[in-house]
Amino acid sequence: MSDGSPTSRRAAARVAVELGVRAAPGIMWTLVGLAVAGSLVPVAAAWLMKGVLDRLAAGAGSWSAVAVAATGLAVTGLAGAVQPHLSTYLQGEFGRRTSLLAQDRLYRAVNGYGGLGRFEDAAFLNRLRLAQQCGQDSPGQIMGSTLGLLRALTTTAGFLVSLLLISPGIAALVVLSGLPILLGELRLARARAETTFKVTSIERRELFYATLLGDAHAAKEVRLFGLGDHLRDRMHATRVSINGLQRRVDRRGLLVQGAIAAGSAVVAAVGLIWAVRAAAAGALSVGDISMFVAAVAAAQGTVGGLAAAVAVTHHHLLIFGHYLAVVRAGSDLAQRSGQPVALPELRRGIELRDVWFRYSPAHPWVLRGVTMTIPHGDAVALVGLNGAGKSTLVKLLCRFYDPSRGSIRWDGVDIREVPVEQLRARLGAIFQDYVEYDMTAAENIAVGDLAADRTAVETAAREVGIHEKLMSLPYGYDTMLSRSFLAADDDTDGNQGVSLSGGQWQRLALARVLLRRRRCLLILDEPSAGLDAEAEAEIHQRLGAHRAGQTSLLISHRLGAVRGADTIVVLDGGVVVEQGSHDLLLRAGGRYAQLFALQADGYRPADAEPAARAG
Ligand code: ADP
Ligand code: MG
Repeated sequence: MSDGSPTSRRAAARVAVELGVRAAPGIMWTLVGLAVAGSLVPVAAAWLMKGVLDRLAAGAGSWSAVAVAATGLAVTGLAGAVQPHLSTYLQGEFGRRTSLLAQDRLYRAVNGYGGLGRFEDAAFLNRLRLAQQCGQDSPGQIMGSTLGLLRALTTTAGFLVSLLLISPGIAALVVLSGLPILLGELRLARARAETTFKVTSIERRELFYATLLGDAHAAKEVRLFGLGDHLRDRMHATRVSINGLQRRVDRRGLLVQGAIAAGSAVVAAVGLIWAVRAAAAGALSVGDISMFVAAVAAAQGTVGGLAAAVAVTHHHLLIFGHYLAVVRAGSDLAQRSGQPVALPELRRGIELRDVWFRYSPAHPWVLRGVTMTIPHGDAVALVGLNGAGKSTLVKLLCRFYDPSRGSIRWDGVDIREVPVEQLRARLGAIFQDYVEYDMTAAENIAVGDLAADRTAVETAAREVGIHEKLMSLPYGYDTMLSRSFLAADDDTDGNQGVSLSGGQWQRLALARVLLRRRRCLLILDEPSAGLDAEAEAEIHQRLGAHRAGQTSLLISHRLGAVRGADTIVVLDGGVVVEQGSHDLLLRAGGRYAQLFALQADGYRPADAEPAARAG
């Protein structure tokens, strides 16, 4: 999309202008007006100066005429002096408003990505980072550089006309010498845009190291393992390579722009020699020379400025193209053709039909033909070794990815035919890697259901046995559960926040999912992994009560916790190797029986009878 083609640049320009029109139309047109007026100031000043000089040279008699020209010169000077400051202020305001809108659009688009694939695509993340940076700056910068372009264009035109009146030859020379400048600057702009893109991907790496070095979570390992210097060295290396890239493009700039400046000086010298000789021969007046010198210098400056403005605009448009690509990427989940089907409450059950899945064609298969059913009202458990594909199956149920082959059906309806928000609204889930938000305790629970009130939040907290702990915090439920942020940005009274233990966090995450207990399917992926044995037993007992009559899928490495499930599905290497009730599976003496015996052995005194292993 943002391949730098003229179409994508045009698209970028259109969107940048459209952003400006939406965000700050009044300011935008005022800026355009000021730019045109401001750019005519030097032209007017040069003509007025010529008038003053010529009248003075003509001798006395017309004082009033000189005074009028001089007053005009003064007023023009005043306008010229004030205009840039007004423009600077307005441009700042324009930048603020457009960046607000651009950022809003960017994150709306990002939130619109239904799945997870893009967040795991390094090339896309590079682009996203660039979009985050330039989404804020680019619209303002494009406006700024476009105004610069407009100013340069008007001023150049003004001086070229003036120059044309005095010497068409020199005017032509100035225009001709402008062409290579323009081409050189444009190529330079392209090189700069390419460098910016490369630099962004390296900067993401640098940011990773920098964040790690300043992160409370990482600080323990960084210190104990003595990683600090190692990470700093790596960070240093990223900056060195960034500097190298930038130096290369800057040197190219030095070369191109140095050559341009030298060429311009030669043209100016030729012009000056011609003008002085013409004046000596009486063909030019003193005022003409003044006008001429101003015009050559200004025309050259503005032709150069014009080329630079074109180049800068070009650069910003190339970069803005990446923003556009991210904003226009649309959802990463394929929308099935035809009308989306409304998702009814679950009546019969959820069925996986020969589901195959791999994270990308470059990755190995994780699920290989999984067929299983979660009947409505049943408690289903999923067990298997690390890496068996259990969490992946959960992600497919939430449609964070689509199966590579096969389908997942909700009462017979393929979940790909349903609007993904409707599907998610019907699910309650605790993921294995749940999030610990840098927010207050109440907020950390309420994220499970933003519509929940404080009573519901407290009820959920009581049910997972964390209420007393939260009440004992310095600000109760309003205590910040982070030591990195203050509860409010203007808070200075030392509401510093607290840290919870892993098990306490796990209970909070469980409280979140209890807020969603009325949803059609409850998914619990290792909900007790961070708990001690006593807490684990207690939590599973509580969860068991919640799961009664609820359709649920429980993943747990604690086989004692899953034995009460209606069906236990054993996953091994992405394949369902057996399924059935606890008793049935024990009798069958397969994988489950082996795993169960292994765990049971761990709790038996060494001299006790080994577990009776069926088969
Ligand atoms: P389980 O939950 O059963 O322990 P997972 O479903 O988390 O297993 O992982 C199954 C396999 O998929 C593992 O080999 C893991 O490396 C791989 N995997 C998991 N998540 C991703 C991902 N986001 N991208 C690529 N591979 C992944
Ligand atoms: Mg897992």
